[in-house]
Amino acid sequence: MEFKKIIVLLFLLSSCNDKNESLCLINCEDNESSDITISLDIYKKIYGTSSEIYIENGYVFINTTGVPDHKSPYFENTIWEDEKYEEYDNSNPFVENFRLNPNRISELDIRFKIPNTPSKSNINQPTSMGPIGVSLNGVPFYNQYAGGGSPLTNEINSFDQYNGHPAPIGPGQENGSNGRYHYHMEPFWLSTNFGADALMGFLLDGYPVYGPKENQKDLRSSDLDEYHGHIHETKEFPNGIYHYHITNDDPYINGSGYYGIPGTVTN
Ligand SMILES: [Zn+2]
Ligand SMILES: [Zn+2]
Repeated sequence: MEFKKIIVLLFLLSSCNDKNESLCLINCEDNESSDITISLDIYKKIYGTSSEIYIENGYVFINTTGVPDHKSPYFENTIWEDEKYEEYDNSNPFVENFRLNPNRISELDIRFKIPNTPSKSNINQPTSMGPIGVSLNGVPFYNQYAGGGSPLTNEINSFDQYNGHPAPIGPGQENGSNGRYHYHMEPFWLSTNFGADALMGFLLDGYPVYGPKENQKDLRSSDLDEYHGHIHETKEFPNGIYHYHITNDDPYINGSGYYGIPGTVTN
């Protein structure tokens, strides 16, 4: 009997070595989900790709052009203008004074290499400027900062009716016409088409990103941990998984860095 207890104790201690042990002994099963290898079928919900999604050596490879499948005022003066230009329609509730920024949507070659079996990091690397994840339509997610690490406050006024905007592709191109379209906040096109509680994409660490609604409730950042997520079952992951939620309050998509170990993106 005593021996059995020791075995159980050893198991508990060894399965939660990165947590406070006493907390873990009580709460371990609720808070720790074992690593999940995500199936190709789930990644295939990402439809805005420029080539087949594939898994190799523990990573999923997702390539996109970054051109949204919805309309935007930022298609003005581009090769897509006739088909996809749409004037700003005053519908974005976050925008107080819309101003079109000088950048225009460009076709890019964005290559995401994301862990296929996301795992918790002990370092929680901060997100960097530029793409931090990929949404279902292939448009990259960005973090909660504008250039120079300043808050998004002013930039929000350049978000279009689908809640995205293009940034200059590189330094020195601030007044050029090329831009990388991206979402810092809820992608309205996706939440309208798939539901505000649906899977919206993945961050670079491989953990899924869901919309702002859960069980009919609009989540706030205060409902989530410091990385902007939590663990429980979802439609795609019935056994539970760590996942991020997009909220309508700052920091919107990610909090203080990646929950897991991030992959890479080149663009
Ligand atoms: Zn931006
Ligand atoms: Zn959730």
